[in-house]
Amino acid sequence: MAEGMNCPRCLDPSPPLGRVGLDLGGKDVEIERCGRCQGLFFNPGELEAFLETQVASTLWTDFPRMDLIKEEIQKMPRPEDMEGRFYIPCPQPGCGVSMNRKNFGRESGLMVDSCMHHGTWLDGGELRALAGWWHAGGKFVHQAAEVKAAERRMESPRTIPRMDLSEVGGRPWLEPSPRRDVFDTAYVLGWLAHAVAGFFSD
Ligand SMILES: [Zn+2]
Ligand SMILES: [Zn+2]
Repeated sequence: MAEGMNCPRCLDPSPPLGRVGLDLGGKDVEIERCGRCQGLFFNPGELEAFLETQVASTLWTDFPRMDLIKEEIQKMPRPEDMEGRFYIPCPQPGCGVSMNRKNFGRESGLMVDSCMHHGTWLDGGELRALAGWWHAGGKFVHQAAEVKAAERRMESPRTIPRMDLSEVGGRPWLEPSPRRDVFDTAYVLGWLAHAVAGFFSD
C-alpha cells in the first residue's frame, strides 16, 4: 500500500513515494521508490526474492569477489554523509517506528534499515551493491544467518506465550504467607517425630 507513504530519508518536505513494478520470478509486485533519493522500500521477503531472481545461477561462494564488493560497500556514502535523517521511520502509514539498522546478511557490511513488520528500506545505489554481493555468494551467507536467527528465536524464552496472570489472581507466589512459619514448624516437628519413631521401632 503506497497510500500516504512518504520518503523516510528525504526531508523538507519528504516527497511521496512512487511505485515501480518488479517481476519476482513470475509474480509481479510493486515496491515504493523515492524519485529524489532513489531509495526503495521492500515488503518483508520481497528483497530476498528479487535478489534471487537476479542471480539464481549462483552455485558457489566467490570469496575474493565478495571481499571486493565489501570494500566498495565500505566506500559508499553513509546516512551520516547524506542530507536527511540518520535513523529513519518506517514509511508504512500508521507505523512510523524508528527502523533498525542491520548489517544485511550479517556479513555484507551494507547497513539496511528495517521494520520487522513492514519491510526493508534501501538507499539509492544499495540495491546494486547488494545484488553484486548476493551473486558472489552472499546469498549463502545470508541464508546461513537466517537459519541461525531462526534457531535463536526458537531457543529464546520470548517465543513462549506468557501466561495471563490475572487468571490466577495476580502473582500469589510473591505474596508472603502469614501462616508459613507455623506450617513449616509443624511439618518439621511431624517429620522428626516420624523419623525418631521409625528409628526406635527398627
Ligand atoms: Zn527520498
Ligand atoms: Zn513498520
